[in-house]
Amino acid sequence: MAPSKVLAGARVVLPTGTVDDGRVIVDGTRIADTAPPGADVVDVSGHWVVPGFVDIHNHGGGGASFTGGTAEDVLQGVETHRRHGTTTVVASAVTGDLDFLARQAGMLAELAQQGDIAGVHFEGPFISPCRKGAHDEQLLRDPDPAEVRKLVDATHGHARMMTLATELPGGLDSVRLLTEHGVIAAVGHTDATYEQTLQAIDAGATVATHLFNAMPPLGHRAPGPITALLEDERITVELINDGTHLHPAALRLAFHHAGAARVAFITDAMDAAGFGDGRYLLGPMEVEVADGVARLVEGGSIAGSTLTLDRAFKRAVTVDGLPVGDVVAAISANPARLLGLDDRIGSLEPGKDADLVVLDDAFDLVGVMRRGEWVVAPQLG
Ligand SMILES: [Zn+2]
Repeated sequence: MAPSKVLAGARVVLPTGTVDDGRVIVDGTRIADTAPPGADVVDVSGHWVVPGFVDIHNHGGGGASFTGGTAEDVLQGVETHRRHGTTTVVASAVTGDLDFLARQAGMLAELAQQGDIAGVHFEGPFISPCRKGAHDEQLLRDPDPAEVRKLVDATHGHARMMTLATELPGGLDSVRLLTEHGVIAAVGHTDATYEQTLQAIDAGATVATHLFNAMPPLGHRAPGPITALLEDERITVELINDGTHLHPAALRLAFHHAGAARVAFITDAMDAAGFGDGRYLLGPMEVEVADGVARLVEGGSIAGSTLTLDRAFKRAVTVDGLPVGDVVAAISANPARLLGLDDRIGSLEPGKDADLVVLDDAFDLVGVMRRGEWVVAPQLG
């Protein structure tokens, strides 16, 4: 059992607002409302304390892959993202052969069962060849509900989300099937019209996979999926805030239109996140990472990001000019709610897991705690 701690003197971001000179009490693995006798007091004055970050779309990091790696690789990637503040991560697969995906999903499900990851996200193979991004065109398929079911079943209850081009034959039936099984249906890598996107939302889709990326642009006579996804209150939009995938003005437009309660910041990270430039694989595809930007060797499509959520947080405040409370909503509270885990994570409230991040006044990460244990212990002078 971790010793009890009181983080004192910080600016603490709570669902009700920011408390200056606030404190967070950690008793064992949880947040408490009163300090037990003999608790260590950690003075974090001049710092922010925010909830641990929740990433619902992530393919790897630390040089290791969730898409093709072993269980050890996955744990290495998870650990890397933890050191950058992501205390909860969903592992995202990419388009692959169905039998391969089912086997990979089975391995990921065991890690989810142990609590190392928060479940599995399938990005492909049921996506549009017109908007395939970094996915292998040879392996794309129309969304057949029986095949969707096969992948969901392979996770033994740990499938959290599937990204689909819902306009393809079988798309809407697949959305319904996912919804019935408690799996989030996400619209993405799609060539749908505005009207087709509304049909998908009516069928049960609730997430937009990296809004703007891998979908038709917004046109004033053909408003397309972007407009439908932003307009509809039932949708949460994923945004990749790395400065490469989106212009800050596009990010602000989405944020202001959807409102802070309907945005989820994701990394869409691949293996180079928290690691470095070089040659990598994303699923079966060769990727070259240069200056932190990942592109397919063949064709040059952007192939995931090298983002970590601490950088997304800092950028959102210092470059995009968003209020800290809104950033906390997008990076912790909203994704926790989407996953149905908001009774345990996503905010700094008594009874929840002691998952938190300590940031300095420049919004650089100095500490990470997960379930009451320091992953990164703050060096406070
Ligand atoms: Zn992705």
